[in-house]
Amino acid sequence: MPCKRCKSNPVIQLPNSNIKLCKSCFIKYFERKVLNTIRKYNLINHKENIISALSGGKDSLSLLYLLNKIASKKLDFKLSALLVDEGIKGYRDKTIKTAREFCEKNNIKLHITSYSEVTGKTLDKIKKQFPDTIACSMCGVLRRYLLNKKSRELKANKLATGHNLDDEAQSIMMNQFRHNIALSARLGPITGVKRDKRFVPRIKPFYFLTEKEVATYAFINGLMDEFNECTYCTESNRFVVRDMLNSLEQKYPGTKHSIVASFLEVLPLLKEKYKNQKINSCKICSEPASSEVCNACNLLQRIRQ
Ligand code: SF4
Ligand SMILES: [Zn+2]
Ligand SMILES: [Zn+2]
Repeated sequence: MPCKRCKSNPVIQLPNSNIKLCKSCFIKYFERKVLNTIRKYNLINHKENIISALSGGKDSLSLLYLLNKIASKKLDFKLSALLVDEGIKGYRDKTIKTAREFCEKNNIKLHITSYSEVTGKTLDKIKKQFPDTIACSMCGVLRRYLLNKKSRELKANKLATGHNLDDEAQSIMMNQFRHNIALSARLGPITGVKRDKRFVPRIKPFYFLTEKEVATYAFINGLMDEFNECTYCTESNRFVVRDMLNSLEQKYPGTKHSIVASFLEVLPLLKEKYKNQKINSCKICSEPASSEVCNACNLLQRIRQ
């Protein structure tokens, strides 16, 4: 079946439909969908300072590529990129190179921060110190901490991430499985329950696009690097949930869209329920925390012991 819009050769069949699109029609469809998400959820406003989290993978490269394309043409905002170097040998070193080259070529300012900067150790070393702890749980704490702290220091209005519909469906299910609904209240196309100047809101312009659509966009635009996956990714709970959702999707197409759509229906109720939850300032580093000491400082204390 040819492209639904122009009858050329198709490159993709859109999820949950019989519609096939060629390269140029797909690019238009993809970029329009991102712009609609940005406008509908008010993700980016005029003259804002937007920092795009860059891992060097296809999602974050596609996001930075597209934001850069629209920063001056369609919406008027300032854009730079932020990369967190976890210190994972054989993975991060390669992706840093890709990220640097991309930013240089596209004239985008790239900020780099690292776990070594705050902990004095790479993630590889931290994992050796705690072989029984899942690397992703320590990594997640440090990454969230650093991304928020650095983007606030860089005076960002928003931090954009390459999270797509598949990622969001996984996060929703992971929080359900762990009975962690308070965390779900912070999800959505723009994160956070209420505005707090210590938190830089995170925006997800790819919220309604599937992993497959983002991968196709990356491929078409020459943004797919050689396959690079973190050494520790199979340890994570997300990996298991991802497989589970992929097999459900195969059997019952539309599952992931339904999870996200149902979630968006209840999200305003969740935000209302948790809006008065108190956010402390960590007594060690003053960063926002849910208890007296933030998760990153708790981990740091363990690392230094
Ligand atoms: S897979 Fe886990 S350890 Fe690797 S970068 Fe992601 S969160 Fe960190
Ligand atoms: Zn076409
Ligand atoms: Zn702290």
